[in-house]
Amino acid sequence: MTDSAAAPDQTEKEKWGRVLLCGGTNWLALGKKGLPADPEYPDLPLPHTLRSLSNVKATGVYTSHSGCHVIVLDVAGAAYLFGRNTSSCLGVPHTSRPFISQYTPLRLLPTDVGAAPGTKFVYAACGRAHSVLVGDEGSVWTAGLNAHGQCGHPAGGEMGTWKLITGGWARAKVGEKAVQASAGVNFTLVLTENGKVYAFGSGEHGQLANGRTGERIAQANKTTYDIEDEPIPVRGPLEDKVTTQVACGQQHAIALTSDGLVYVWGFNGYCRLGLGHPKDMLIPTLVPQYAGPNVLMRAAFVAAGPTSTIVIDRQKMLQMAGKFKTSGAGSVGQPFSTFRYFPEIQGCKVLLAAAGGVTHFATAVDEDAGPGGVMTIAWGQNAINSELGLGEGQPKSTPKPVRMETLNGIDVFALAAGQNTSFFLARPNEALLDLPRFPDAVPAPNLCVVCNEDREASGEEALECEKCDTPYHLGCLDPPLKSIPEGQWFCPKCANEFEDVLPLPGAKKSAGLPKADEEPKKKGRLAKRKAEDEEGDGGGGEAKKAKVAKK
Ligand SMILES: [Zn+2]
Ligand SMILES: [Zn+2]
Repeated sequence: MTDSAAAPDQTEKEKWGRVLLCGGTNWLALGKKGLPADPEYPDLPLPHTLRSLSNVKATGVYTSHSGCHVIVLDVAGAAYLFGRNTSSCLGVPHTSRPFISQYTPLRLLPTDVGAAPGTKFVYAACGRAHSVLVGDEGSVWTAGLNAHGQCGHPAGGEMGTWKLITGGWARAKVGEKAVQASAGVNFTLVLTENGKVYAFGSGEHGQLANGRTGERIAQANKTTYDIEDEPIPVRGPLEDKVTTQVACGQQHAIALTSDGLVYVWGFNGYCRLGLGHPKDMLIPTLVPQYAGPNVLMRAAFVAAGPTSTIVIDRQKMLQMAGKFKTSGAGSVGQPFSTFRYFPEIQGCKVLLAAAGGVTHFATAVDEDAGPGGVMTIAWGQNAINSELGLGEGQPKSTPKPVRMETLNGIDVFALAAGQNTSFFLARPNEALLDLPRFPDAVPAPNLCVVCNEDREASGEEALECEKCDTPYHLGCLDPPLKSIPEGQWFCPKCANEFEDVLPLPGAKKSAGLPKADEEPKKKGRLAKRKAEDEEGDGGGGEAKKAKVAKK
């Protein structure tokens, strides 16, 4: 439900970065009380580079404010999935895999779900217990809970494999291509290339925007509602508009049109639709605040939290409606009944925003950091897994927006806020190299794996792979390197890892040695430095020391 769509002013065609995460990683225990902590799946108090995907050029990251799973997409169009496999939402039966570890994400290629060779995954969406993948040729695949038809297939049970949606926009006579999706608890929205919105799942609160809930008494004391397991076009004023972005709350939705107008519909408890009243809206309804004659006051970006809605206007000011706190303004007793800004970030030029279980994140222009510099802002009450990522020893919650000092200098260009875990994509730069990696160490040989010699005395340092920590002397590489490369450096195995294992149609195999990323001016890691660090902190270095001792 939390989508990482790029802000309108980010026009670079192929933007990629590394996956960072903070907050809870104990997927089966998240949100459940009384389960013991597991040191292997800790809460991360600040954003870490996810080592298992550190060599992946990620273009998008997607999770759910009401779920515990995540989908990462890369430049080659592959998907990487991990987290809790609720109702088989990761596309594998949950009975065999109740969760997929962040240490070993599942790599899924479009051809694995039956797409034609050459297809790329370009967009994804996560609901509470279902998931959506969008291909660059306009197809949509779904998996997970389908009790209300939220997977776009005949309602009932769950889908433990990815299935192509063939109804709605995909029908031959319609012939539209899907480009974007968003998912709530029990419904899904799909946006097509022509700016049309389709909905499927439960219409209990008008989420399907078809003008009705279909509420009726089925049996004694039991009320049922309409479900639509065949995608239907949303009705009302959006039919004549070009929609450019959609976002789902738990049971409500928001859409942005090409002319900067904002439409909302669905469940309206706590006035989450920002219309000044709590009445459910069964068709898309214009938000008057963004419909005035001054086009600068119109909207540029929309997002949705579980019970709240976010708009960034064309002046880059962020505003929210609904309930998003446990006390004070914005809580049950005092929800924001219309869209309101936060004085703390009133002066910030906000680019992107995302809302998780109780968290909110935004990126904004950092005037002090020079051209292109961004800062990341966080706020939220009652965060218990450090998912705000404010750092060790820092408060886990903050009712007012604050700058994330833990991401100072980090070039974040995508946000995905989950129920208890937060994800970011960051372009490689010097500051990124200083972020902790998760896990902080992995078992690796102590000496250069080519010559197995310790040449430190003669001044020859060994390079250490960013992902697997394996050391190589510059001169032992083939061809040898003359100097320490700048930026992140990956060993030949990690640099070619995914291309070697599962070649993508049309993907070029990188020739020769991996090149360091161009942007950072900082040198690659030296094995020597790492060894010193480990002696210092005493943790994580056991594997290496043990190997030395055996010789
Ligand atoms: Zn060597
Ligand atoms: Zn490696």
